[in-house]
Amino acid sequence: MKVCSGIDEIRNYIKEVNLTDIVLVPTMGALHEGHLSLVRLARSVSSNVCVSIFVNPTQFGPGEDFGAYPRTLKKDLDLLEQEGVALVFTPTPDIMYKNNQTLIQNQTLSSILCGVSRPIHFGGVLTVVAKLFNIIQPCWAVFGEKDYQQLKIIEKMVLDLNFPIKILPGPIIRETSGLAKSSRNSYLTDQQKDQASGIYKTLLLLKEEVAKGNLDQKAIESLFVDKLKKYPLLEVEYVKVLNNNLEEISTIEKGTRVFVAVRVGSTRLIDNLELL
Ligand code: AMP
Repeated sequence: MKVCSGIDEIRNYIKEVNLTDIVLVPTMGALHEGHLSLVRLARSVSSNVCVSIFVNPTQFGPGEDFGAYPRTLKKDLDLLEQEGVALVFTPTPDIMYKNNQTLIQNQTLSSILCGVSRPIHFGGVLTVVAKLFNIIQPCWAVFGEKDYQQLKIIEKMVLDLNFPIKILPGPIIRETSGLAKSSRNSYLTDQQKDQASGIYKTLLLLKEEVAKGNLDQKAIESLFVDKLKKYPLLEVEYVKVLNNNLEEISTIEKGTRVFVAVRVGSTRLIDNLELL
């Protein structure tokens, strides 16, 4: 497994060893089973898997957890080696953003859901992903449905800017408690973690309600707020029922999903589930 931090260094390596059919898995490190499931999905399409590990400063707003974000590079590299990854890109902010003046924005999808409380987030995500695409030039890139809004915004960028890259979505991997795996779960105390599992339990209740025939978008959103009161440490930031293209609907139909952001102390957790 080759590890490169420089842009010229990784480009030259890809050329030298003639690495073709690359599948890229972008991450911010602190790897867990969710990330590893994406690496395995990547390996199922090509043996030339490249993983990037970069805590991207431009997607964190002022006062967010850029400084505190867990960084476990040594352990991450060991895990990736065991997964048979061919190449790891570990740039620094200086390498990625020296003199950068360009920002890529989605004018529509960036301002809903997580974009309301994180107005600069998706601009940072799109810019770094576009740079990674240009540096690595993969044929495929894998993104998790855990960050469903991010996945959709990236799919749209690929379409709008004509990147010759196929986006592969990976399903959400969860703890046995149901809590979606996240590098940010390490911020939680045992008690907070226990209550945070209430997010998925409540999402499942909504799915049951839909299965019983309640197809009213507003009623399902209200039910989430109501049922989450059982967990006093959890505070709802948003709950939104949308179709799988993140468009408003009033009656739940095939492919409708529910999207939530919940605060537990100073930690913000997101999750989503297909309702029908
Ligand atoms: P991150 O390191 O948090 O930026 O995530 C890197 C990639 O892993 C993104 O495509 C995420 O959507 C994906 N990911 C994070 N957590 C999970 C999970 N629990 N299940 C599946 N994919 C995940």
